[in-house]
Amino acid sequence: MRTKLFLAFLAVIIVALISNFIYENFVTEDFENYVDGAKEDKLYWILASVEGSYAAEGWDRQSLHDTVHWAMMLGFDLKITDSEEREIINSRAVEEHLTPSMKRRMEGIIDRSSAQGEFESYPLYQEGKEIGAMLVRQMKRKGSIDEKENIFKERGREFLIISFLIAGGGAVLLSVFFALFLSNPLNKMKRAVESMAKGDFSVRVPAGSKDEIGRLSESFNFMAEALEREEALRKHLTSNIAHELRTPLAVMKANVEGMIDGVVTDTREGIEHIAIEVDKLIRLVEGIEDITKAEASFFSRKNYSEAELSGLLSSFSATLMPLASEKGLSIDYAAGRPLHVFTDIYKLETIVQNILSNAIKNTEKGSISIQYGEEKNLFYIEIKDTGIGIPDDKKQLIFKRFYRGEGSQGIGLGLAIVKELVDVMGGSIEVKSSPGDGSAFRVWLPKHGR
Ligand code: ADP
Repeated sequence: MRTKLFLAFLAVIIVALISNFIYENFVTEDFENYVDGAKEDKLYWILASVEGSYAAEGWDRQSLHDTVHWAMMLGFDLKITDSEEREIINSRAVEEHLTPSMKRRMEGIIDRSSAQGEFESYPLYQEGKEIGAMLVRQMKRKGSIDEKENIFKERGREFLIISFLIAGGGAVLLSVFFALFLSNPLNKMKRAVESMAKGDFSVRVPAGSKDEIGRLSESFNFMAEALEREEALRKHLTSNIAHELRTPLAVMKANVEGMIDGVVTDTREGIEHIAIEVDKLIRLVEGIEDITKAEASFFSRKNYSEAELSGLLSSFSATLMPLASEKGLSIDYAAGRPLHVFTDIYKLETIVQNILSNAIKNTEKGSISIQYGEEKNLFYIEIKDTGIGIPDDKKQLIFKRFYRGEGSQGIGLGLAIVKELVDVMGGSIEVKSSPGDGSAFRVWLPKHGR
């Protein structure tokens, strides 16, 4: 991983350097073009000035002298000839006529000894007629553009070397940094997978970032949580079931033995006792099936859909209406403002019906009311009864599996299933109750699904 990253960075840097190199060459070439252009401009200026020194009566010597002087200062060695190729003036002659101070100044600027090689000839015209020629060759100017050009090129090369050092060093540093930055979370995950393989399902990896590694970490954590839950479920259920089976089986055994030994003389009564226990066992098995399903729904595909809450609640409570009327209880359900939620309807039905049937079971007189509402991104359903109420010290216990209050005919799984489903849906449940005054169960769930 680190080597691959380093090589990738190196490739990027090499491409950057090549483009840098090409760019530098372009700049140098442009600069040379500019220098050549500037030289041409000066030559044309000198040419125009020489041509301007010619009039009908002949050459204006003073003006020619001045022009050649200027041309020398600009780095050109000149010879001017007339139309019969006779030399009229040249740089050397002009130089001889200069004052000593002018000469010194000139020597300070121009390297006279560099005037070597062939002259280039430019024809001189006036009013369409060739009046002579200007012969030119270049001299080196001290501290001139030549030196500046070299300095410029030198700088270009230095820039290339420095940028190579910075880019190369940067590539090494960046690849080390990114390699550590990227490989760290992957190493953590590798260690977590190894501990999981050894049976430790409690391991989690940090999953803060929004990138691929963050998402991978989230999926890993979800898988770890799923496995942890499944493991816990298996352990709990096995021990709980064993415990719950023991009592009905013991009662059945006692009755059967009593009948065999003749201790129980009323066989019908004995068989009825057994039938009650068989019933309990059947409900127990059904309850176990329900809670297993509720727990397993954590792993199953989410079954969410858009629904209107007041309509849902009225249909959920309708099924339990006969049970309430049998006990002379009323279910007060006043549909309020329509409330649209995105939820798992089947889970919600189980939650509401379990709480509602508990309310009916634990209320002797009065009524049961159902209300709903919303707050921020949550909605709630509250089921309130005027029943026996729950003592404070029992409020935490009622959600535990197989917990039953005194006198309960149930198997103690109803609220455990409710709690499990509410958890799976990402919600919470609150109980307000005092013995004698009744109880209120309020379930909070996300309005837009989990
Ligand atoms: P079950 O109803 O089978 O006993 P649950 O898990 O549904 O089991 O409830 C656990 C216990 O919580 C009940 O036995 C009962 O004592 C208590 N409980 C539940 N709902 C109410 C209620 N509305 N009023 C009073 N007690 C309740």
